[in-house]
Amino acid sequence: MRSKILLIYTGGTIGMNRNPATGALEPFDFRHLLEHVAELQQLDAIVDNGQLTSDDGRLLPPIDSSDMTPSLWSAVARCIATHYDSYDGFVVLHGTDTMAYTASALSFMLENLTKPVIFTGSQLPIDQLRTDGKENLITAVEIAAAKDNDGHAMVPEVGIYFGGRLLRGNRTTKQSADAFRAFESFNYPCLAEAGVDITYYPERMLKPDYSKPMVPHYNLDNNVIIFSIFPGIREDIIQHILHAPTLKAIVMRTFGSGNAPQQPWLLNALSEGTEHGKVIVNISQCVQGSVEMSRYDCGYHLQQAGVISGRNSTVESAVTKLMFLLALYPDDIDAVRELMGRSIRGE
Ligand code: ASP
Repeated sequence: MRSKILLIYTGGTIGMNRNPATGALEPFDFRHLLEHVAELQQLDAIVDNGQLTSDDGRLLPPIDSSDMTPSLWSAVARCIATHYDSYDGFVVLHGTDTMAYTASALSFMLENLTKPVIFTGSQLPIDQLRTDGKENLITAVEIAAAKDNDGHAMVPEVGIYFGGRLLRGNRTTKQSADAFRAFESFNYPCLAEAGVDITYYPERMLKPDYSKPMVPHYNLDNNVIIFSIFPGIREDIIQHILHAPTLKAIVMRTFGSGNAPQQPWLLNALSEGTEHGKVIVNISQCVQGSVEMSRYDCGYHLQQAGVISGRNSTVESAVTKLMFLLALYPDDIDAVRELMGRSIRGE
C-alpha cells in the first residue's frame, strides 16, 4: 500500500520569490512551490498539503524562519496531531535559519512518536536552476514514506533531511549559511544517507513503544535565556540578567569541557540563582564533545554552584527542552532539573 504523507509548508527559502522592488527574497505561497516539483506525483506515496492554523483557527501565512515563535511550533504540533492517525509520515518545509530549533522543540512536544516527522528546506529557492530544494523535498518525502519489514516507519522520530543526510532533529545545528550541506550533527551519527540508494541505520534510531498513543504537548514556557561566557564578562550585566523577575532558566555557554572563570562574583551569582529556583544548564561553546564539569577545577566549581551539565546537547535542544519542561512541570523545579540531566528523546 502507498504511504500517505502530509506536507506542511511553514515558509523559508525553498518557497521564496524575489521581490522586484527590493530585490530581497520573500516567502511565497504553497501552490507556487508545488508547481516546481511535479516529480512528487511520480513518487510511490500519496502527498497531501497540510495547512498551519492558529489556535483560533486562522490560516497562518508562510514566514522567513527568523520569525518563528513557540506558538508557531505549537501550530506545527497541532497540525501533526490532528492528522496523526490519517498519515504515515509528515514532511515539514521550513527555513534553514531556525530549523534546528523547531525540530528540537517538536521532538519534545510529540511524546511517544512512532511516525516520521522530517524537516527540510533549501539554500536556493525551488524555482532556481541550481536549487537544492527539489532533491531535499523529494528525498524527505521518500524517507517519511519508508517502512520496515514489520510495516513500521523506518524513521520513527523527528529528523532533518538536508544535503544528502538525515540527522536527528534535536542533535542538529545549522553550520553553514552557503553550503548545500547546511546542517551538522556533531555529537551523533546520521540516521540515513542518500546516494544512489537511501541507506538507513536502524541501530541509531529511537525505539518507540508502539503500544502507547502519541501524546502532543502544546505549552511552552519561554522565560529562558541563552548567554555565552567570555573573557571580560561583566558582573553588573550578569546580575541584571539573573535578577530579571520572570527568568526561570538559563542555557550558559561555557568554554571547552564546561569551564567558566573562577571569579567569586560569578560563582556566587550562579549559586544565588540556583537557590532562588532558576535552572542553569551548562552547554559548551565547542560544537563537538561534551561538558564534563569534574575535569577541571573551574568546571567543578560550577557544579558546586548547582549548575546542571547539559553534556553534549546542542544549544537548540537545551533551550527548547527547558521551554517544554518548564511548561510541563510549572511547580516542580526538581523534576525540570532531573530531566535536564538526562536524555528523554535521544537528545
Ligand atoms: N532566512 C531563511 C529562513 O530561515 C533562510 C532559509 O530558508 O534558508 O527562512
